[in-house]
Amino acid sequence: MSEKISAPKGMLDILPENSGKWTALENVIRDICGRHGFEEIRTPVVEHTEVFSRGVGDTTDVVSKEMYTFEDKGGRSITLRPEGTAGVVRSFLENGLFNAPMPVKLFYLIGCYRYEKPQKGRLREFHQFGVEMFGATDPMSDATLISLPHQLFERLGVSGVTLHLNSIGCRSCRAEYRNKLRAYFEDKKDKLCPTCLTRLEKNPMRILDCKDAGCKELGKEAPLILDHICSDCADHFEKVQSYLGAMNIPFEIDARIVRGLDYYNRTVFEFVSTDLGAQSTVCGGGRYDGMTEQLGGEDFPGIGFAMGMERFLLMLESQGITLEDKKVPDLYIAPMGEAAKVKAAALVAELTGAGAGVVTDLMGKSLKAQMKYASKIGARHVIVLGDGELESGKITLKDMNGGEPKEIALDALCAADVQ
Ligand code: ATP
Ligand code: MG
Repeated sequence: MSEKISAPKGMLDILPENSGKWTALENVIRDICGRHGFEEIRTPVVEHTEVFSRGVGDTTDVVSKEMYTFEDKGGRSITLRPEGTAGVVRSFLENGLFNAPMPVKLFYLIGCYRYEKPQKGRLREFHQFGVEMFGATDPMSDATLISLPHQLFERLGVSGVTLHLNSIGCRSCRAEYRNKLRAYFEDKKDKLCPTCLTRLEKNPMRILDCKDAGCKELGKEAPLILDHICSDCADHFEKVQSYLGAMNIPFEIDARIVRGLDYYNRTVFEFVSTDLGAQSTVCGGGRYDGMTEQLGGEDFPGIGFAMGMERFLLMLESQGITLEDKKVPDLYIAPMGEAAKVKAAALVAELTGAGAGVVTDLMGKSLKAQMKYASKIGARHVIVLGDGELESGKITLKDMNGGEPKEIALDALCAADVQ
């Protein structure tokens, strides 16, 4: 036998025993998005590397350290998407989605890839539910977007999640703040990590998002952006808060949030759970009004968020909330003998075609083993099909949930009898 092969480190199989809760969660997400008028978009799992270096930003951890980048056979630099926004913005521009009535409201459920140290709530392949809205600058659009994850938590009865909210201003108010921040870190240079030294030149706000303990410590006393935003940004932030109030969505102002992408502006937010240990942010997002330009398009305002599905499911698990979407067959057909097998094959084709869930034996099991199997898979009804039944043309429809058995003419058996 050849040596066994394992999945790449930090990449997990979602096995049949678990896939039901993924489907159930995805269904609730699709339902909520649909109710709010968001449409699903599916973009390629890989993009030209530039999409991320320009769309997410060179100075971010994601781009500078975590990307799976390789050359394809044509010598082009390709990257497995580490997040969803940049690819969606690329698609929005490339496909002229901006010609549709604004705002354009999109959502996606995708796999993402980041070369990180795998641990609880941190994987190399993980999944995101993300939402992007283009065209709207009104603070009500910020609040509307934030209401989606909130509604998802409420609907599934999740507790212990806090919404942290901040404003990081616009390009103009940030320019002045950047200088202040640069000045603050300048004389502490020798204590910064090497990545943050580059950030100091290019984008000092990123230093506040660094995971390095030393940089974190230095950042504690740094000036806060919220104290330096212009009056327009302050007004916008004020209104976002009052809309959230009107929607009955509690939040905390957290002046320390800067978020991972380079092009966020004004509203940034995170939903933080008490159940996730070190990886406590289950959802994060914000406004990114400059990104469409950054990716070579016209300037369209944008706002979005991404939620980590694995972290969400961990949270549900630790709160004992179960989600199930297990399909059980309506009928199990237990054939005995070759002629019965042929009839069983015909019945499965006919009844599944008519909408019922029907399975039969494919293993040549004994009748006893088949009955055991039918009960294990949770079949609602069972019929035994042997020579006797074929001759008499009658079968007994057994109700596995204890209902009365019914005698039915074999030819008359239809999907409605078992559903
Ligand atoms: P963190 O600070 O935990 O590294 P991040 O700021 O890098 O998070 P985002 O880029 O905002 O995360 O991604 C949105 C969400 O995706 C996160 O809030 C988290 O729930 C999830 N997420 C991010 N990276 C991972 C990962 N490696 N494994 C699992 N989930 C992840
Ligand atoms: Mg990260």
